[in-house]
Amino acid sequence: MIQLKQLTKSYGKGRKVTTALSDLNLSIQKGEIFGVIGHSGAGKSTLIRCINLLERPTSGEVWVNGVELTGLSKKQLQEQRRKIGMIFQHFNLLSSATVYDNVAFPLRLTKTSKEQIDRKVNELLSLVGLEEHKDKYPAQLSGGQKQRVGIARALASDPDVLLCDEATSALDPQTTNSILKLLLDINKKFNITIVLITHEMHVIQSICDRVAVIHEGGIVEQGPVTEVFLKP
Ligand code: ADP
Ligand code: ADP
Repeated sequence: MIQLKQLTKSYGKGRKVTTALSDLNLSIQKGEIFGVIGHSGAGKSTLIRCINLLERPTSGEVWVNGVELTGLSKKQLQEQRRKIGMIFQHFNLLSSATVYDNVAFPLRLTKTSKEQIDRKVNELLSLVGLEEHKDKYPAQLSGGQKQRVGIARALASDPDVLLCDEATSALDPQTTNSILKLLLDINKKFNITIVLITHEMHVIQSICDRVAVIHEGGIVEQGPVTEVFLKP
């Protein structure tokens, strides 16, 4: 489903080069919830941003759904990216748009009729439990509600993959659990492959099937969560 082959990403030039990922290989299966855990600076954010080419790798290959992304034209990449949703630590919502319009935004960039958009947005708002709040603005919502908007928006184009970049790190423990439960429900309901990065062990333990531990730009261990975390 997702394959990273000999992925290397360096930032900067000359003597100021930082190598964030070094010759990294990773395979993620369709329908699984895959976690990547590591300390700050380990390369997690770079790794997840390379999966949809928000960050362009210095070398290596990124395969999603049988397509290698680094060699695509801009237009082809745009097409493939519609199949990859993403949610963020700080939600990245449009502050001057309502909940409804935030979720409708990606659909309005495509040839979708108003009626179809309306049906889809209402369906998604019901899925994430925000029907009552659709006319509110992000500033009027709690953190958990904002992330629910982010999730609904990410699902608007029916993606096969959902990338979660520290998606619960700005939330309190109770809200974190409710968002993780929602992600698990979405995974089961749509068979969406979920990749999440976090520095929090309990996030991995509560919903992930498999986990990779990243350290200094390389994967030092990976496997089923129960095996990786129960070793002495
Ligand atoms: P994590 O998400 O695990 O904290 P990152 O992927 O953000 O790790 O960072 C990995 C390394 O790459 C760090 O040394 C970080 O300082 C560096 N880095 C990340 N983004 C940039 C950037 N835009 N420019 C330069 N260095 C960067
Ligand atoms: P625009 O001025 O950008 O065309 P509109 O306010 O006319 O936006 O809304 C476009 C469509 O989106 C409407 O036909 C309606 O179906 C839907 N819509 C917008 N806001 C809401 C809302 N809060 N609740 C339900 N549907 C909405």
